[in-house]
Amino acid sequence: MNGPDKQRHLCPFDNSYGRLPERFFARLDPTPVSAPHLIKFNTKLAGELGLELQELSRADLARIFSGNDVPVGAQPLAMAYGGHQFGGWSGQLGDGRAILLGEVLGKDGVRFDLQLKGSGPTPFSRSGDGRAALGPVLREYIVSEAMHGLGIKTTRALAAVLTGERVRREESLPGAIFTRIAQSHIRVGTFEFFAHQQDYDGVQILADYVIARCYPQAASAANPYRALLDGVVKAQAELVASWMQVGFIHGVMNTDNCSISGETIDYGPCAFMDIFEADMVYSSIDHMGRYAYSNQSRIAQWNLAQLAQSLLLLLGDDEDSAIGEAKAAIKAYREIYEQFWLKGMAQKLGLAKERDGDRALIEELLDLMAQNNADFTLTFRGLSNLSLVANDQDQAMLDLFDQPASLNDWLGQWRERLQQESRSDSQRQMLMRAKTRHLSRAITLLKR
Ligand code: AMP
Ligand code: MG
Repeated sequence: MNGPDKQRHLCPFDNSYGRLPERFFARLDPTPVSAPHLIKFNTKLAGELGLELQELSRADLARIFSGNDVPVGAQPLAMAYGGHQFGGWSGQLGDGRAILLGEVLGKDGVRFDLQLKGSGPTPFSRSGDGRAALGPVLREYIVSEAMHGLGIKTTRALAAVLTGERVRREESLPGAIFTRIAQSHIRVGTFEFFAHQQDYDGVQILADYVIARCYPQAASAANPYRALLDGVVKAQAELVASWMQVGFIHGVMNTDNCSISGETIDYGPCAFMDIFEADMVYSSIDHMGRYAYSNQSRIAQWNLAQLAQSLLLLLGDDEDSAIGEAKAAIKAYREIYEQFWLKGMAQKLGLAKERDGDRALIEELLDLMAQNNADFTLTFRGLSNLSLVANDQDQAMLDLFDQPASLNDWLGQWRERLQQESRSDSQRQMLMRAKTRHLSRAITLLKR
């Protein structure tokens, strides 16, 4: 890079999290790496965000997104948080291998976090090395961008850089650093961090901050903290319903991986399932199946209950009223989730208008898929190729099922139901395909 001039114009930082009390984080720079090499830079996202990086060379970008050059205006810090992992309280966690470079005000004044993951040890690293291996960095890059392509709220991938260093896991692996964009990196575990220390001022400062940053409409509600909780409940309900609609298994839904802004965050041992199996578990350390596909909605609700508990003192003037508010907010989750789920699944079946019986039709298809070892994505993709009147496309769809004939009745019911819709075959097919297009591409890439 030719001196600091280019750095100065990198992007307009405004680091509001860094203006919170010092106990919210630890300030430190990324640890430089020996030979940064840019693997991938998301030019399209940079453009959408309004980052002016066009004049920078690949070598410049590699230095910035490895943490070797800290841009002017950045105020790097590691965020403090805690969390429940696999249902047990783990105490303090925090950014053990991530550093928030700062917040950027992008196009239209939209604020986002710019975070490096794998950027070296921090005071929260415990026994970890602060680094990331290439494989997981590429996985997070591809899967998070696929999720975005599917219209699912997620953190985004801006860059992936090789460090030129090795990381030691079970074997020695190439080290890499991932640059992540998020609406915010605040988690349920951030609230728990303060609540579990009985630092109720901390909880309130954080809650006021989150309201101002992520849920501004809550500020004018009669009970702003209840409105904040309601906002997170709705965001998580919508998020998890959208995961279920694409067969996504997050794998590690610990409260430290549960985002307050309702974005999918921390792509660890995650997957889009192949053969549909409701109880599929993906993480090899999830021995009890806590984070199985079919459990994800319940777990989101459990995580939200931890948030409600952390906010409890703010929710009402006395204990009874606070508990009443928390219970009502958490109870509302199920209904909100069910509505999002039904709406999205109906769309996958090409149904625009809701009718009685739609839920049964969807559930029956899922049962048939499970009984016949049908691939989740291919089944819905196959369905999007079918017409109102049976034709030679039907066979390809039936062949996805172990016992093809077992789908015939269902297809008959589905076609009968489609008669109540007003859209043409081609309109319906186009909308159904739009829901799977990016996913098919990502799965192909991941299998390479
Ligand atoms: P995760 O499973 O990625 O959500 O991480 C859980 C916690 O472990 C977070 O506090 C991480 O920062 C921390 N962590 C994970 N991997 C490492 C590592 N290699 N070095 C230091 N901390 C880590
Ligand atoms: Mg995490």
